[in-house]
Amino acid sequence: MSNNMREQLKHAVHDQANQSLELLYHYLRLPSVSAQHRAIPETVAFVSDLLNGIGAEVKVLDDLGGNPVIYGFLPAGDGGNTAKTLLFYDHYDVQPPDPLDEWDTEPFEATLKEGILYARGTADNKGTLMQRIAAIKALEETSGLPCNVKFLIEGEEEIGSPNLPVYLKKYAELFQSDACIWEFGSTDAKERVQLYAGIKGSAYYEFHAKSAAIDLHSSLAAVVDNPAWRLVQALSSMKNQNNDITVEGFYDEIEAPDEALIKLVRAIPFEEEALRDTYKLTRPLITAARGEVPQDALMLAPTFTICGMVSGYTGEGAKTVLPKEAKVKIDCRMVPGQTGEHLLACFKRHLARHGFSDITVDLIESQRAYRSDIHDPFLNLVKKTAEEAYEHEAIMYPNSAGTGPMYAFNEYLHLPIVSTGVGWVQSKAHAPNESIRMNDYVNGSVHMAYLLTDFAAE
Ligand SMILES: [Zn+2]
Repeated sequence: MSNNMREQLKHAVHDQANQSLELLYHYLRLPSVSAQHRAIPETVAFVSDLLNGIGAEVKVLDDLGGNPVIYGFLPAGDGGNTAKTLLFYDHYDVQPPDPLDEWDTEPFEATLKEGILYARGTADNKGTLMQRIAAIKALEETSGLPCNVKFLIEGEEEIGSPNLPVYLKKYAELFQSDACIWEFGSTDAKERVQLYAGIKGSAYYEFHAKSAAIDLHSSLAAVVDNPAWRLVQALSSMKNQNNDITVEGFYDEIEAPDEALIKLVRAIPFEEEALRDTYKLTRPLITAARGEVPQDALMLAPTFTICGMVSGYTGEGAKTVLPKEAKVKIDCRMVPGQTGEHLLACFKRHLARHGFSDITVDLIESQRAYRSDIHDPFLNLVKKTAEEAYEHEAIMYPNSAGTGPMYAFNEYLHLPIVSTGVGWVQSKAHAPNESIRMNDYVNGSVHMAYLLTDFAAE
């Protein structure tokens, strides 16, 4: 594409992005909170109309339970490459707006102030869908759609996509594509564009120790065992002071990173000072004592985290008591290869071997990690077009720290996946005062138009 055509496309995207705002405001006013089953049918109808409005063939899939999954298809325009298909993954559901009193604006009303648009769902993920639609409209208006485009827009992402894998399995043929653009991403504090070629997995566990039917007078601690101590001792046998996870088999399933992946990981910026400052950290990073590079730990290593513990009395002042039970919630951020079920088996075996067979452990939920083949040319294409559109450096993270149903996508569709979105460093997704910047909205839309163009020409 000539420079002149590129400029023309950019102007068309700017126009379409501005014209799309009324529709985006309407979309944001729909309180589509999946956790509370709010406004789902209206939102499905709205998104279907939106896709119809750009000439897409639309199917609302709802035969397998859960909130409907929306399919959209647009064939390449005249002279376009009908042999290539790009899939966009988005979700129409949002997180609850609570706590309501911490919002400075109405969560389900779009408020634009000084180039920043506030509402629940702006960043996660309604703004991202609208900027993709604006890019497609601009292409249709100028050179024509350069390749086929498909959409998969689900309504249960914010509750862990429990039904999506069965839809992907049944409709794998329908969604078949050559590459996928995922639903989230931001610019960082230095205006760099963050792109993600994968996600970490996540598994959530509850450990439970119990020694009596009711709480006891603590004088009986002289003869009765204490479940809180049992649990503390069991946990301390699972992770040592050097932060090595000492559960046998914990690291067994991990796919070893190759040279290229390690190189990519080391190239990622890590701002220790910003991290210290944001959270007012009081201790050195654990990677320092381990002689590890923080980027390696963040991208390539699994975690074993105590999220919370309860037992006995934790209120004000003193209350002597020997608790009847103790519970701990644990999450593990997993890397490719690991499964929540395998780790559960490791925990059970570890507890039995170390004399803690009275302690039970349950797997509450888990989602596997996924990482695209980092040698796939699609990754470079997304990065290069991002740098052109934003006129800033873009950084390809081999995976994000967050979790989503990427593993199921690859299992049934077998394609490279890169995530990018409309967020910024202060987007506050899931929190009060969620927002996006209009600049990012427009730049991201230009990015999608350039990407579709170059993807088709590959
Ligand atoms: Zn979210």
